[in-house]
Amino acid sequence: MNDYEHIKKQDPEIFASLEGEEHREAEGLELIPSENYVSMAVREANGSCLTNKYSEGYPGKRYYGGQTYTDMVETLAIERAKKLFNCGYANVQTLGGANANIAMYFALLQPGDTVLGMDLSHGGHLTHGHPVTYLTKIFNFVRYKMKDPNTGEIDYDEMLRVAKESKPKIVLAGFSAYPRELNYAKFVEIAREVGAYAVMDIAHIAGLIAGKAVKSPFDFGFDVMTSTTHKTLRGPRGGLILTRDNEEIAKKIDKMVFPGLQGGPHMNNIAAKAVAFDEALQPAFQTYAVQILKNAKAMEKIFLDNGVRLLTSGTSNHLLLADVFGSLGITGQEAETLLDQAGITLNKNSIADDTRKPMDPSGIRFGTPAITTRKFTEKESAQVAQLMVDVMKNKSDEKKLAAIREEIRTLCKKFPIPESFV
Ligand SMILES: *Cc1c(COP(=O)(O)O)cnc(C)c1O
Repeated sequence: MNDYEHIKKQDPEIFASLEGEEHREAEGLELIPSENYVSMAVREANGSCLTNKYSEGYPGKRYYGGQTYTDMVETLAIERAKKLFNCGYANVQTLGGANANIAMYFALLQPGDTVLGMDLSHGGHLTHGHPVTYLTKIFNFVRYKMKDPNTGEIDYDEMLRVAKESKPKIVLAGFSAYPRELNYAKFVEIAREVGAYAVMDIAHIAGLIAGKAVKSPFDFGFDVMTSTTHKTLRGPRGGLILTRDNEEIAKKIDKMVFPGLQGGPHMNNIAAKAVAFDEALQPAFQTYAVQILKNAKAMEKIFLDNGVRLLTSGTSNHLLLADVFGSLGITGQEAETLLDQAGITLNKNSIADDTRKPMDPSGIRFGTPAITTRKFTEKESAQVAQLMVDVMKNKSDEKKLAAIREEIRTLCKKFPIPESFV
């Protein structure tokens, strides 16, 4: 844990919140599948002197002087990212996953062009064309869906039909609430058929790909991958854009990130990305990535054994979507609040073709990246899953809920957040 010695002296109000958050993270179970705990090394880099430096441009081509160390840091981040994802080009400057997607769209499209992406109610992300985003005023988004929410298989025939009809410039794979692997070969085939770029937003599964626990879309011919660095990849909050082998595409992306859209890169954040990429290159990270999947499978079993319907009937990655309203008669919002009181953080989520409203949907979404960082194995993951079911089945039994809260507190004490992974 950080002692925040200077903040403590100088700014007691912010110190109180930082200390509060340190305790919240240590004493509760984090099941939000997009969250994780970084190493102290990553935190030191993120809090380093590099936050002082302006370095607009790219290594060797900066607008200001004094770039000896920033060039070293960014070059290391780029080289490590390329090695990690086995590709030719990496841009490490985007500030987050949304920014990475915006830069990718702007680099590859003209206003009015079409993107074929995953339907949002079937697992896609806001930045894949939700009407609340400004992106939909600039580009035209069309959709593909699952053929059957109980298998999770995408309707590839319909996808090809829509592609032929709407002539997208990008066929976009990727999701934030989909528990299965996609048929990458099919995506590339459809993209090639209509002359589109094949792009995958790997934000959620970047760590699983880097840790070789799941297949990489690049091995099937995807042109570009966008990502966050702070989810399964276990780095600082940030974005990443990878290009498989096409220099022309990579140049367009670099130009669009800077000067097209962003100003000076956050070099402290890029140093933290570099540290995290090096951690992910270690053999221990592969063990971690595989354990994430095993733990998700252990949770899957408990939910199914308890008669809870899981979307796509289970999981092949780090996350699960449970139809708690359909199975247990408790809404997603109710479940989120109750579990939060028990010390388990997760989020309510719409399920495919949900009949309930987004602010109080039928489902919950949860996953194993953070508890696996805490060194949970299948045993503790199954224990947590059972506690979750118990909470939802005993929502009015105060005594039982208090006992569960205590059991979770004990589990957290036994599995402290590690400070280092090497
Ligand atoms: C999380 C996520 C993003 C957005 O990342 P931010 O860093 O929050 O901007 C984009 N795409 C997908 C698929 C995501 O899961």
